[in-house]
Amino acid sequence: MQKNTAIGLFSGGLDSILACRIIAEQGIRVRALKFVTPFFDHDLLARQEEYQQEVKEKYGLNVELVDLSAGYIELLRNPSHGFGKNFNPCIDCKIMMLSRAKELMEEYGASFLVTGEVLGQRPMSQRRDTLNLIERDADCRDILLRPLSAQLMSPSLPEREGLVDRERLYRFSGRGRKPQISLARELGITDFPAPAGGCVLTDPNLAARIRRFYEGLFLIGKEEITTADIQLLLLGRQFRLPGGHWLILGRNEQENERLAECCEEDDWLLSMPERPGPTALLRRGSTLITLSEEREKILNAVVGLVVRYGRKVKGAFLPGEVLFQEGSVQNMLQADVLADEVFQDWIV
Ligand code: SF4
Repeated sequence: MQKNTAIGLFSGGLDSILACRIIAEQGIRVRALKFVTPFFDHDLLARQEEYQQEVKEKYGLNVELVDLSAGYIELLRNPSHGFGKNFNPCIDCKIMMLSRAKELMEEYGASFLVTGEVLGQRPMSQRRDTLNLIERDADCRDILLRPLSAQLMSPSLPEREGLVDRERLYRFSGRGRKPQISLARELGITDFPAPAGGCVLTDPNLAARIRRFYEGLFLIGKEEITTADIQLLLLGRQFRLPGGHWLILGRNEQENERLAECCEEDDWLLSMPERPGPTALLRRGSTLITLSEEREKILNAVVGLVVRYGRKVKGAFLPGEVLFQEGSVQNMLQADVLADEVFQDWIV
């Protein structure tokens, strides 16, 4: 194991940028890891190289993306340390990231881990006792260095061994941002994101939706949830049809395309070729809707919703044709507009 490499947990926020840079300034090679899940930053996987270049240019750091989706979806079923204000399992989330980073240490030849945590910055996850608990449960006590608050903590192994100069670490604490901003200036970092990251688990509306999804809002058990399900859950207009079936309608061209991309073998996919309108995806329609009476009822409702959300003609919603695709079979169906009072209660 080399002594001159550290793994930095890189959220992309200012604190993590600074933490990695403080260590890099001491001549230590920092491999920044950015963890992604469908709940935060998953879109970066599609443009990894561009993102790496961006981070290199702006902050002088080498970043790599690590996809935690599968384990994270499972974690949300029952996080050992519970949830924060919304559906955010911050403590378990940090433990999972640190554990994964620790597993990668050998591969990267790293001898310690770096995070941008600041003592007392967040009410729950950055209290001293919580920070201790996180490093204990991630089994990285002593090899975890938090450069922004290090001087307020006992020296970690890399400090005791002289690999890191403790005198050049910091004693930031609390919620204020001024010291970080002035340090950023000193390090020539000018372009950094505002606090309040992009984790949907802390967004009250989306978090409530995700929680309900885990509680069985649709006919999908929490053990069955996939990354694609979460991506669909965060997309378009959501409906819970009678019987608990899950329908998603695109709100624009981009969402329509995403829905078509996410469509799996047993999903129903509907669209409106004759005038602009939503693409609709009914999750697992072919598997869950097998009785012909129910199938007809649901199909009528779905095509009715598609034309209802289609573009108006001379100020009115009009009946129209809807293309229904199930596996490799396609059918054109005639649709009547579904009245608003019929579906108001279906909107999630
Ligand atoms: S806000 Fe989201 S990403 Fe950040 S620690 Fe909490 S759960 Fe994890």
